[in-house]
Order: sequence, then structure tokens, then C-alpha cells
Amino acid sequence: MLRDNLIQVQDNIEKACRRAGRDPGEVTLVAVSKIKPLSDIEELAGAGQTDFGENYVQELCGKAEEISRPVRWHMIGHLQRNKVKYIIDKVELIHSVDSLSLARQIEKEAAKKGIIAQILIQVNMAGEETKFGLEGEEVLDLIRQISSLEHVKIRGLMTSAPYVTDPEENRGYFRAMHQLFIDIPQKNIDNVSMDILSMGMTNDYEVAIEEGATMVRIGTAIFGERHYN
Ligand SMILES: *Cc1c(COP(=O)(O)O)cnc(C)c1O
Repeated sequence: MLRDNLIQVQDNIEKACRRAGRDPGEVTLVAVSKIKPLSDIEELAGAGQTDFGENYVQELCGKAEEISRPVRWHMIGHLQRNKVKYIIDKVELIHSVDSLSLARQIEKEAAKKGIIAQILIQVNMAGEETKFGLEGEEVLDLIRQISSLEHVKIRGLMTSAPYVTDPEENRGYFRAMHQLFIDIPQKNIDNVSMDILSMGMTNDYEVAIEEGATMVRIGTAIFGERHYN
């Protein structure tokens, strides 16, 4: 059943790419497995899914330790500085960097391990007060500051659009994100490459792809509803 959901989502991604005249190979699917059991992840990995997103450090570490297949982990949830050390050498990409202090902590831990951490800058396009992430004009300042860190590499931007019933309501945010994404390279900041635009979740990934997402983070459409206890 999870395999069928995965195929359905892959198919929708392909169709959205085709509508937008894009190559489906440009879009990476991150299956968001938070609060879902390891057996689900194993099943999807067996079906060829390689990238998984987690929100909680402890959960990510536990799953990373136990999994029997080689997968790539993405930290997509809010990250506290004191927890960076636990995930630094376990994740492919940290999507949720929204402050210089967090980036400095990542620098410190990456240096200790002798690696270069790959990160995205989290943007709060809709300016929602309840969400983490920076608003438009703060983004460039932060990118300039982080670009001087030797063990941190900025790869792009991430956003979570508001929860809406009609995904068309988010099209404007996705379009604005894409504009920011293509404007930043014009500023010629060293050590920054804008090749990942992480946006689009179960409710709105097709619209996000039409507007230029290169990475979508999808939980519910693949794993089913999440039941928090
Ligand atoms: C949970 C989560 C997702 C996946 O949400 P769905 O609506 O289940 O697809 C994507 N991104 C982030 C940051 C999340 O926390």
C-alpha cells in the first residue's frame, strides 16, 4: 500500500513537471517519515525511495541507527543548537537554518567531524508569526553572514507555506520564493550555491513544482495520516 502511494506521488510529480515544461529529474522527493515506524521506511526504501525527512533529532538518530538500508536523511524540523552535534554527520541536508547562531553551531560541529554541512535557509514567505524562518529581506543578510563559515555550505532555500484547502492560494508564495532563489546568485556571494529549492507538501506540492520547487517534502500522501499521541 505504501508502495502504491509512492508510485502515485511520483506520477503526480512527473505530471506537474510536464505541465511546467520541466524535467522530472530536477525534482527530488523527500518522504517525510516523522512519527512513522521504521518498518514503513524500510518498505519504501525497498521500493526505491532514497530520501527521508525527519523533524525530531532523537527520532532521526534512532532510525538512522536501526535502518538496514542505505538512505539519505534530511533534517526538516526546527533544530535547537544543543542538538546539532547528534545529527551533524547523519544527515544529507539540514533544511531549517534560520539564524546565524544556529549556523555557527553547525560550523563548530562540522569542523570537529571534518565535514562540510549542507544547509538550506528557511524562509517564512507568508510572514506567519507561528512559524520559524526568516522574512524576505532578512534572508540576504543571513546568507552573507553564513557564507564566511568554512564548514557550512548554503545550497538553497526552504519554506513551508500556510495550510490551505486550495493550493492555488499558495502559488504566490511559491512564485516569490522562486524569485528570491534566482535573485540570490546575482549577488555573487562566495560559498553559496542556489541549487535546491525545498517547498511543497502533501497539500500543495504540485503547485510548488509548477512554480520551480526542486525538492518536495511529502508525508501524508505517502504514509497516510499522522496520529500524534
Ligand atoms: C510534516 C512536514 C512535512 C510533510 O507534511 P505533509 O503535509 O504530511 O506532506 C513537510 N515539511 C515539514 C517541515 C514538515 O514538518
